[in-house]
Amino acid sequence: MRQSQLFTKTRKEAPSDEARPNDGSVGQASKNAQLLIRAGYIQKEMAGVYDYLPLGLRVFKKIENIIREEMDVIGGQEIFMSSLQEKETWEKTNRWDDSMVDIWFKTKLKNDTELGLAITHEEPITRMITKHVQSHKDLPFSVYQFQTKFRNEIRAKSGIMRTREFIMKDLYSFDKDQEGLDEFYGKASDAYVRIFDRVGLGEKTYKTFASGGVFSKYSHEFQTICDTGEDVIYVNENKKIAINKEVNTDEVLSDLGISRDELVERKAIEVGNIFKLGTRFSDALGLLYVDESGEKKPVVMGSYGIGPGRLMGTIVELYSDDKGIVWPKEVAPFAVHLVRLGDSEAVVKFADDLYTDIRKQGVEVLYDDRPLRAGEKFADSDLIGIPVRFVVSEKTVAEGKVEVKFRTDNDSELLTAEQAMDKLKN
Ligand code: ATP
Ligand code: MG
Repeated sequence: MRQSQLFTKTRKEAPSDEARPNDGSVGQASKNAQLLIRAGYIQKEMAGVYDYLPLGLRVFKKIENIIREEMDVIGGQEIFMSSLQEKETWEKTNRWDDSMVDIWFKTKLKNDTELGLAITHEEPITRMITKHVQSHKDLPFSVYQFQTKFRNEIRAKSGIMRTREFIMKDLYSFDKDQEGLDEFYGKASDAYVRIFDRVGLGEKTYKTFASGGVFSKYSHEFQTICDTGEDVIYVNENKKIAINKEVNTDEVLSDLGISRDELVERKAIEVGNIFKLGTRFSDALGLLYVDESGEKKPVVMGSYGIGPGRLMGTIVELYSDDKGIVWPKEVAPFAVHLVRLGDSEAVVKFADDLYTDIRKQGVEVLYDDRPLRAGEKFADSDLIGIPVRFVVSEKTVAEGKVEVKFRTDNDSELLTAEQAMDKLKN
């Protein structure tokens, strides 16, 4: 993409409403929103509501695709459900009333019928699956979606990590029995570990013991250690074990065979969670199957969520410096930022040819072909944070070369176009 065609602008300062928290409290607003707005990835509509601009959508889609690939590996079938939800379904599980769930956005049809805007999909999907499961032969399977959730979050001061409208990847599993669920739960957990590794959060992300509800002793949250996180967890970094606040009791500690003095308190961001639902929803909504001996039984369910937007925000919280964002390679909007300095015929030709060549090799490139000063271009390039920069100038063209610099390095080197591409691919 030619940067001269990109409609978004970078800004030197974060807008004033992003420089302080949204909820009127004192302190610094979120780093992720400040940097992402300044670099032109997102735009703020109002507190807790953001638009994704071209660069931001590219990053979001990268993260989404990594998640999708890993969901497909464990056999998930992708669907897409509506955000409009019927009150009756939610009443059956006692989750419609505002006294039970305090983050609903609700609306009405013209005839006054009440509807909810999806906070999650356990209820509608359980009902939907009743139309497709009769026999034990229909089980097991799992389905997932990338779907819009609406939550009237009370606090929304963490930029895109906690928004009032967001895409969630929600996966639901349907099994005959507890053993089936346990097996799938393990696979889903492994898939989550691979996802966080691939987006660059693996090292700092802990599979964290959390409370499990009626059907299971524990559920698990995936928590990424980060000073700006809203959650507090207790971690043993050597053993890679963590527990959250809910289960930080003497009983649980002895159950897990850990002692309190080996745990340190850390701030963290909940990037995903997995939960054994058991038969809570299938009982309430009549999702039954006939087993081998002709007996009717409730389907055993699990649910598994990740917020790609929260992941994107978390990545920015963790990977930036005083100049801007430093994207991990796997999620960067482009693989290389080709920056042209000067507009002599020789420079333009060299840079244009290189641009064509890079694209021919199937590498994603942002080409800064704008008539700006070197200082402005470098500042923008650092702010946007693409992992590798190729600079073409009078000086490099004189030697028939291009200057290659990694975002994480201070030094650069002069290479031929061919060498530069080799370097990029490794
Ligand atoms: P939290 O305790 O942080 O509010 P949650 O328990 O409500 O999270 P879930 O309902 O399990 O989260 O949602 C699954 C995933 O969706 C979370 O792990 C997170 O990645 C993401 N998520 C949840 N709420 C939001 C939000 N308001 N904005 C963006 N992503 C979110
Ligand atoms: Mg929540």
